[in-house]
Amino acid sequence: MAQINENYLKLPGSYLFSEIARRINKYKTEHPDAEIIRLGIGDVTKPLAPTVINSMHQAIDEMGAEATFRGYGPEQGYAFLINKIIEHDFKPLGIDLEEDEVFVSDGAKCDTGNIQEIFSLDSVIAVTDPVYPVYVDSNVMAGRSGDLGSDGRYQKIVYLPCTAANNLKPEIPQTKVDLIYLCFPNNPTGMTLTKAELKEWVDYARNNKAIILFDAAYEAFIQEPGIPHSIYEIEGAKEVAIEFRSFSKTAGFTGTRCAYTVVPKSVLAYDSNGNPHSLNKLWLRRQTTKFNGVSYPVQVAAAAIYSPEGQREIRAVIDFYMTNAKIIREGLQRAGFTVYGGVNAPYIWLKTPGNLSSWDFFDKLLNEAQVVGTPGAGFGPSGEGYFRLTAFGSRSNTEKAMERIKNLQI
Ligand SMILES: *Cc1c(COP(=O)(O)O)cnc(C)c1O
Repeated sequence: MAQINENYLKLPGSYLFSEIARRINKYKTEHPDAEIIRLGIGDVTKPLAPTVINSMHQAIDEMGAEATFRGYGPEQGYAFLINKIIEHDFKPLGIDLEEDEVFVSDGAKCDTGNIQEIFSLDSVIAVTDPVYPVYVDSNVMAGRSGDLGSDGRYQKIVYLPCTAANNLKPEIPQTKVDLIYLCFPNNPTGMTLTKAELKEWVDYARNNKAIILFDAAYEAFIQEPGIPHSIYEIEGAKEVAIEFRSFSKTAGFTGTRCAYTVVPKSVLAYDSNGNPHSLNKLWLRRQTTKFNGVSYPVQVAAAAIYSPEGQREIRAVIDFYMTNAKIIREGLQRAGFTVYGGVNAPYIWLKTPGNLSSWDFFDKLLNEAQVVGTPGAGFGPSGEGYFRLTAFGSRSNTEKAMERIKNLQI
């Protein structure tokens, strides 16, 4: 008899987006003429940059000619891309990386979900709350979470609440944890940490032999000077941190798929006898066993974003989204909302007015302004009473949504 991995039964159904769709459909049935504006999307909407497309076309032609055809590539990624990543994304920050410390992949979702495999099932994990659900669910599947309590928290996971009370910045845990997932700029809150704040986490990790899993998928959206783009800008981070990056939001690759993970050879974790091991070796072993690399045309396309024209083109798109973010942030503030994020990230996190629950505010916004966002409670128990809007909509929809929200009775 084939038995299932019962850890999967500990996961509640993916209720958030289906419930949002259900409520929208109900509203549409009752109001067939309503023009609904969706500011809930966590996906980019602008097409790939011309430079990216040209390069991908050329690479596809190469694949169609015997002399230039390529089969399996290196599992870790082509050197032409890895060297551009190191030169452009890390060298200017004063961070030196070696070629075999960068692992090109088909997504930061896969990498942040898979990375837990190289750690003991006994590891205590800590996540911010609210959180990108992948970090939690991948550990539930593996069997690290314990059961889901009636408070919406898994018993063995350490939650780091991020609420108005701490200005949405996680506090160092009181108990000892082994793996800490941090995502800054943050999805869903749009908040960032300063170098000094991030250093506290690096110091904690060094003092406790813990590992930080740092998701920097949104670093390209940082507008303000002084905000760390990479955790390796922090002294000592190369001993304790793995960093995840993605071309998804940076360059519109959500449907094209390319990302990378940095595992410095100096990052160590320990076996049950206390002997140190390089996580770089373990991740290499994991990837070479279970992953066969990103397609050649996609890696060529990703490399093209580092050309001067590529940089100009992706910058223009990011600027477009960040102007939307500013319109939303300022529009909400003028309407009297308490607002977070939207300065260095494409996400705006608002406190629901009048202590409405996330879902009650969802309904109010849908019914009274025909605007759709994402209830904060969907990102974790501490997201209750908050709401996420995103900057990935069109300019006209973003402006129209703010006009409607301005007239909302709150
Ligand atoms: C969008 C996003 C990613 C990127 O995922 P990909 O698999 O690379 O598309 C990673 N982390 C967070 C928090 C995200 O929101």
